[in-house]
Amino acid sequence: MKFYMLCDIEGVAGLSCWDEARPSGSLYPAMAREMSLEAACVAESLLKCGEHQIVIEDAHGDGRNIDCSLLPPQATLLRGLTHEIFGKTGLFDESFDGVLMVGFHDAASSPHNPTSHTMVSSRIFQLKVNGAIWGEFEMFAYAAAYRGVPTLFVSGDDGVCAAAERQIPSVVTVPTKTGYGYGVLTKTPEAVQAQLAEQAKKIPDAAGKIKPLPLPEHFHVEVTYHHHYDAYGCSHYPGAVLVSPTTLTFDTDDYGEVLRFFYFVF
Ligand SMILES: [Zn+2]
Repeated sequence: MKFYMLCDIEGVAGLSCWDEARPSGSLYPAMAREMSLEAACVAESLLKCGEHQIVIEDAHGDGRNIDCSLLPPQATLLRGLTHEIFGKTGLFDESFDGVLMVGFHDAASSPHNPTSHTMVSSRIFQLKVNGAIWGEFEMFAYAAAYRGVPTLFVSGDDGVCAAAERQIPSVVTVPTKTGYGYGVLTKTPEAVQAQLAEQAKKIPDAAGKIKPLPLPEHFHVEVTYHHHYDAYGCSHYPGAVLVSPTTLTFDTDDYGEVLRFFYFVF
């Protein structure tokens, strides 16, 4: 089988603040290594289960965080930014059997991670779709579903794991930490890596059971910005409506158009 793994850093074991997620931070190298090791654990365990292919996408910041030398040799790594319209899923298409998300995090304005955010933390206060708060998990799980591919595995803070379990029955999850205000209660990297390796064995089985998320017939998207000028600037996107100084709405029946909107307004 063929799997596409999206990796982020804010949900990995130990990370507790923005400074640790940014290359200028003193603890960033340790977190980038943990991001690499968590991806490697899932990939190695899955590759031991059979003749599988894995494409790993580095989906944090500029996409240049994962140390490729720590990954199993059968995996390939997408580094950098493809500027693909369908979210960050640069090489993603309908040929994959499942999407895996590693190191994911709670949505912007949600409380389960001090670094909870949706795409651009300095701009986006909150994203809602059809009245529900959405984070990157929802954006990419629906992007996968748009290509007919199910999301099978999610690791990260317990907020994103709970969101995944609510929306995808029998999704395989590995919670890494719990957010408390501007802090976290985290498992150790060793414990998380062991759980990732153990839970990843369930992925091939999950691929046979889990269906792609059903796409709603209509998408009512609301994006609220921290700054009124960002909302105003993005209100020039065709079809976008400025409904308050800081909030834009966009309506469409086609999730591809939602992804195009996201690309230009985040
Ligand atoms: Zn990130």
